[in-house]
Amino acid sequence: MSMESTAWTQLYSVMNAQQERRPFDRVTLRRIGAFARPHRRRIAVFVLLGVLTALLAVATPVLAGRVVDAIVSHGDADAVVRLSLLIAVIAVLEAALGILGRRLSATLGEGLILDLRTAVFDHVQRMPVAFFTRTRTGALVSRLNNDVIGAQRAFSNTLSGVVSNLVTLVLTLAVMLTLSWQVTLLALALLPVFVLPARRMGSRMAGMQREAAALNAAMGTRMTERFSAPGATLVKLFGRPEEESAEFASRAAHVRDIGVRTATAQSVFITALTLVSALALALVYGLGGHLALNGTLEPGAVVALALLLTRLYAPLTSLAGARVEVMSALVSFERVFEVLDLKPLIEEKPDAREVPPGPVSVEFDDVRFGYPSADKVSLASLEEVASLDSRGGAEVLHGVSFRAEPGQTVALVGSSGAGKSTVAQLLPRLYDVDAGAVRIGGVDVRDLSAGSLRATLGMVTQDGHLFHESVRANLLLARPGATEDDLWDALRRSRLDDLVRSLPDGLDTVVGERGYRLSGGERQRMTIARLLLARQRVVILDEATAHLDNTSEAAVQEALAEALAERTAVVIAHRLSTVRAADLILVVESGRIVERGTHEELLASGGRYAELHRTQFDQPGLTEAAAR
Ligand code: ADP
Repeated sequence: MSMESTAWTQLYSVMNAQQERRPFDRVTLRRIGAFARPHRRRIAVFVLLGVLTALLAVATPVLAGRVVDAIVSHGDADAVVRLSLLIAVIAVLEAALGILGRRLSATLGEGLILDLRTAVFDHVQRMPVAFFTRTRTGALVSRLNNDVIGAQRAFSNTLSGVVSNLVTLVLTLAVMLTLSWQVTLLALALLPVFVLPARRMGSRMAGMQREAAALNAAMGTRMTERFSAPGATLVKLFGRPEEESAEFASRAAHVRDIGVRTATAQSVFITALTLVSALALALVYGLGGHLALNGTLEPGAVVALALLLTRLYAPLTSLAGARVEVMSALVSFERVFEVLDLKPLIEEKPDAREVPPGPVSVEFDDVRFGYPSADKVSLASLEEVASLDSRGGAEVLHGVSFRAEPGQTVALVGSSGAGKSTVAQLLPRLYDVDAGAVRIGGVDVRDLSAGSLRATLGMVTQDGHLFHESVRANLLLARPGATEDDLWDALRRSRLDDLVRSLPDGLDTVVGERGYRLSGGERQRMTIARLLLARQRVVILDEATAHLDNTSEAAVQEALAEALAERTAVVIAHRLSTVRAADLILVVESGRIVERGTHEELLASGGRYAELHRTQFDQPGLTEAAAR
């Protein structure tokens, strides 16, 4: 390939790259517009204030020129006093408008923060569980904090900067031209020196901004992860604190480096601009003074021109800076929109139905399912990886069918990794099936409203999670309207009443991550208490009694039996003793149901269940009662 054609190819690719960027920017701008629309009245007032401020800014230099002329021509003293009074009034007005404008821009900016934050929070909350298992919490929180604030800052700065500066610029130029076109044109000759570097800097600063945001998020993520109780424990047990510190220091050092680079670039840019405006001022004094000596220009006009020039370059500087601001605003907005654009894999249908009233059946109809690949559920930039794995997850369930009649209990047993929890997760629609259907009360769960599904299904898992809130708040989550008596009744039935009574603040004791530490078994009983409170019609117990010791298990089994009465239930249990009363037992192996029947039937058939039963109970010297 010749040199020439290589150059052309390069030029062509640069042009194309720019073309690719444009519509994308326009889309971003349109979306920002949508966020600004509810505030349009305030924005209009704000723009009006900007115009007024600009008018006042031009008035003062002109009046100052008049004062000088009055002095030089030994004119009337009254005029001097009048003019200076007017200048004073303008100064006061400018101050008042300044405060008003600032207040308005803060209201606008904070309003925007509120809108963006609530939009992101609302959206993220709707993301499927898969998203949270993949996403790093720190990175997500940084989107909600840093980027939203960055977007706001740039938005209100741009708005206040661009509007009033543009008006000031036009007015100032117009007045200067009427005073002396020669001086004005000469001063403007330096304009390109302003505009050209500003264009360059814009994209450079945006790049740095993007890098800084990513680095800050990376640092935040590391802190959130390492400073959580499980993370800190892991470091204590296995980690090497020196290496952890060194790794953190290197991330923090990156943040420092980019901070220094940004500050330097900014200061070089601003200094250069200030220097150019100072040089232009010297030009005005030189040429203006010369013209005044010739008698072609009033001395007052020279003063007015010099003052106007200082007011001309100030808006120019900030307009040039505004480009930088706009670029970084776009970056922040982009990062926020990126999260908003993540399509939740699981969405409620517009015409979603309610679960039919009364006891309901639960049905799996030839269900096939594989966990979704990373690129479907998450964002690369939230996981600190360059690109996400697009390989589809291998199929985990291969045609699972079963039916629990209203009020029946179906138990799933089988070795670990067989797919039992996966079956449980498909019921509350934490994931959607790939083929087949999951039905509750005969309705496909994908056709049900999220609210109705939540009200119908209750789930107790192995690791009952508690929010860092009071016992009461954690319980009320299940039934917001529950009375004090309801709460104590649920606590009593889940054998937690004595414990809660002994806590320093009773029901108001804060539990969870940084609060009073409940043991695994106590946490689990708390989730059972929630279940008893919520009284849903379908109950899923996923290893719900795994953390209980023998005495409390017997007690909780009783409570659970009570909770399950007249309810449709899907129970997963490792210990076969807990499932023998089930109406139907399914043995799951490698994503398939390999046996089904009642306890007696399965034992009699002598298959996989009988084998599992033997390994649990027929160990030498172990009776069934002791194995419990
Ligand atoms: P069980 O509850 O029977 O122990 P699971 O339903 O938890 O089994 O797991 C079934 C299979 O699905 C396992 O091979 C497991 O590795 C896989 N699996 C479980 N959860 C996920 C997930 N969030 N993403 C990808 N694969 C998963």
